[in-house]
Amino acid sequence: MTTLKYLNTEACNFEACHPVWNCQNTDSISVSKANVHAKVLVQRYPLLGGTSRRHGASITCPVCFKDKETLQHFLLSCPAYDQHRLSMLARANTVIMTNDGSKSSNLLQMSSEQLVSTILDSSHVDDLDDTSQQALNEVMKDYCFKIHHLRSVLLHGESRYVVATKRHLKTRSSTRL
Ligand SMILES: [Zn+2]
Repeated sequence: MTTLKYLNTEACNFEACHPVWNCQNTDSISVSKANVHAKVLVQRYPLLGGTSRRHGASITCPVCFKDKETLQHFLLSCPAYDQHRLSMLARANTVIMTNDGSKSSNLLQMSSEQLVSTILDSSHVDDLDDTSQQALNEVMKDYCFKIHHLRSVLLHGESRYVVATKRHLKTRSSTRL
C-alpha cells in the first residue's frame, strides 16, 4: 500500500516537477538515492513494521531487535543508525540555518512527525530559497540512502550500492585510460 501522507501537496505545480522529484545528477548512484527516497516517501520501502508488511510476519526491527521497525523507528530512533543520523541532521540544519528566509526553522525543535515529513519532503520547510531547497532535498536523499545502505549491509552484507559504486569507479577509471 502506498500513501502520499508525507508529500507536501501545496508544493505541487502543474508547470514544474514537484521539488522532491528534482534530481541534480543522472548517474546511477544519484538515481538509486532518488529511488530509495521515493520508496520511503510513499511507504513502499519494505520495513517490517511498515504499511506493506506481510500478515503474521515479525515486525521487530531486524537490526537492533529493540522496537517495531516502523517508519519513525527507521528514520529517527533505531540506535544502529545514530551516528549517520546525527551527522546528516547537522548537515540539514546547516542548510536551513544559513538560508536567510527561514531562520525560525530548526530540525532539532520539530516534533517527530514534523521531522519525518521534512526528511521525506523537504518542501515542508517554509521560506527556503531555491538553492537551499535543492540542497536540503539532496541532504535528505543522502539521509534515507545512508540509512538504507547501513540496513542492507547489516542484514545482507555488501549491498548493491557498494557493488554499483565499485562498477561506477571501475568504469570511470577505464574511460580515463
Ligand atoms: Zn532498530
